[in-house]
Amino acid sequence: MPGITTHYLFGIKAWHRMEKCALRNTISSFHGAYALGEQGPDPYFFHPIARIRKAGNPADIMHHEGLGPFLMALFQYAGDLPRGKERACTEAYAAGFLGHYELDSAVHPYVYGVSDPQASHDINTLETHFFLENDLDTALLYRMKGMDLKDFRMHATISMTPYMHRAVGEALTAACQSAYPDMKAGYFLMRTGITAERMALFLLEDRTRLKKKLAIWVEKKLFGHPIFSGIVGSKDPEISMEDPFNLRKTGWVNPWQTDKVRTESLPELMNGAFDRYLEGLSMLNTYFSSTDGDRKERVYNKLAAFVGNRSLHSGL
Ligand SMILES: [Zn+2]
Repeated sequence: MPGITTHYLFGIKAWHRMEKCALRNTISSFHGAYALGEQGPDPYFFHPIARIRKAGNPADIMHHEGLGPFLMALFQYAGDLPRGKERACTEAYAAGFLGHYELDSAVHPYVYGVSDPQASHDINTLETHFFLENDLDTALLYRMKGMDLKDFRMHATISMTPYMHRAVGEALTAACQSAYPDMKAGYFLMRTGITAERMALFLLEDRTRLKKKLAIWVEKKLFGHPIFSGIVGSKDPEISMEDPFNLRKTGWVNPWQTDKVRTESLPELMNGAFDRYLEGLSMLNTYFSSTDGDRKERVYNKLAAFVGNRSLHSGL
């Protein structure tokens, strides 16, 4: 995951740049569901039940395996609902989820490449991972909104009424059961993940910066260096590395594709993801607007070919 704030801002920028169309209006009306969709499967990283269940954490499974079948199942589920509030909410959520897919699959290989080149997922590599994402959250928020990270109310971006929780929970359950039958994702688990995300975002807000200071202090005592404190919602005291966004275009290697040295900077990776996202949103709008069965199927197949089946971690 790039950070929570980065995912949100990526979605906001895309909404501003989208062509005027029905899906854009739907997102305006259901911006809370869209903002939640932009967080992709990340809310389940914060879900206590998801973390301990035998069948695995949906967030881990959905990051490791290709996400294409899940996304297409989600789009189809939304597109088959009768038109109304529930469908509009689900469409907005699905549109946001596509943003998470594009951003994660483009940026994660770089984040792992510079923080965990062996993709060991060792706890000691998480310090650079989370602190790099914090650098990005901080810089983007300042650039796009002129705002300090500590003043950003992350949990308020996901404003959703109970029926919206239900609509998204049902859509997630159906899409997960279709794409990952072994995950055994039931409605209770999927719906409570939304609540877990909102609570986590609220708890991570750090207006006074005291939480960050305390988290770093505790982690230094426990582990000798900070690990998870990078995700607390205020600017880190130190920059994660000398050139976190690779503006000098130094070579880096995707841990899952070690035969290729890449030199893209983080802004270049994000711009590429952004262009793809806008194209995908336009196709998604056409799909959701289609009523004729044959045409709808053609658009669906075209969309499936465009989406592909990349992993959120490796981008492959
Ligand atoms: Zn993610």
